[in-house]
Amino acid sequence: MKILNHFSLKNYTTFGIEAKAEQFVAVHSVADLKSILEQNKTKKKFVLGGGSNMLLTKNIEALVIHIDLKGKKILKEDADFVWVESQAGENWHEFVLYTIEQNFGGLENMSLIPGNVGTTPVQNIGAYGTEIKDTFVSCEAMNIENQEIKTFTKEECHFGYRESVFKNEVKDQYIIVSVVFKLRKQNHKINTSYGDITAELEKNKVTTPTLKDVSNAVIAIRKSKLPDPAELGNSGSFFKNPILLKADFEPIHQKFPEMKFFDISETEVKVPAGWLIEQAGLKGKRFGDAGIHKNQALVLVNYGNATGQEILDVSKIVQDTVYNMFGIHIEAEVNII
Ligand SMILES: Cc1cc2nc3c(=O)[nH]c(=O)nc-3n(C[C@H](O)[C@H](O)[C@H](O)COP(=O)(O)OP(=O)(O)OC[C@H]3O[C@@H](n4cnc5c(N)ncnc54)[C@H](O)[C@@H]3O)c2cc1C
Repeated sequence: MKILNHFSLKNYTTFGIEAKAEQFVAVHSVADLKSILEQNKTKKKFVLGGGSNMLLTKNIEALVIHIDLKGKKILKEDADFVWVESQAGENWHEFVLYTIEQNFGGLENMSLIPGNVGTTPVQNIGAYGTEIKDTFVSCEAMNIENQEIKTFTKEECHFGYRESVFKNEVKDQYIIVSVVFKLRKQNHKINTSYGDITAELEKNKVTTPTLKDVSNAVIAIRKSKLPDPAELGNSGSFFKNPILLKADFEPIHQKFPEMKFFDISETEVKVPAGWLIEQAGLKGKRFGDAGIHKNQALVLVNYGNATGQEILDVSKIVQDTVYNMFGIHIEAEVNII
């Protein structure tokens, strides 16, 4: 394990923004992670997975620990289910494809989400009507302070919409080293109701979709809608869809009857942030090398040499414009550092 000094993180985040790590180390085993933490007790640490959910606005004055633990295995199975464990550094999309090849169902709607398996519980990733919490069993995480491994059950993770205990109660205290999912071996619960999946399957003349068909449809839709970070730096949806109490939403809705919304509980609605940004006239707007994507108003992009601060400035313009127009605050989904 080699600790590197003044290490460029430009190729380690999907925004492709230049920022230096004071120190950088890639860890390939739990034992390496333990010894790095033991040897650097007093140093500030920063955990890096695939870098697809962070905006670096400055150099990181810390030891950046890049989680690169590999491996996956079947822990147990019964007639209907299989419990699969993946190490934190496995690429998420490759892991999803592996489960589909084995005919294990449950993750197919989350195909092509960038990043690592170990980061998926951090914000309870989700797409096309599925979230990680639907198949998550537990994860093992190392306590940064004392290097003890703790198993977090699903209940202990306090999953919410793009939220978990790792973003709140135990933020910066644990490094997730492995995750266990419970997946279906048969009687798959194919979910094509969300977004354009049904239309995409119809286009391909698929009438009884398999896991692979659903995954292929999701991949095709995502490729047509979202910019590829390899071509245009971005971090996916920059903002969360705001959740409002129905009582607060009602007067706003009266003023803007065309506003889109979804009931999420008896008392709350979710409003698509992309719609608000588009209505505010910001879709496709560019400020130097930072901007709002031309097809996806939720996605902020780096056209080449934007700094993290410039992207952050654009995000503030978006938040202020939306607030001034609708009185709704939209919160960043991306981790801003
Ligand atoms: C084009 C694109 C599309 C996307 N689409 C979606 C989508 O549909 N749904 C969705 O939910 N997300 C989406 N995302 C966001 C992102 O892919 C996910 O949040 C992903 O899980 C981030 O993983 P990562 O390994 O890249 O995390 P990183 O960006 O490396 O880290 C994110 C945060 O987690 C912390 N962290 C990283 N690894 C660990 C660990 N092992 N233990 C503890 N903390 C850790 C970091 O310190 C940081 O705070 C998209 C991103 C892009 C670029």
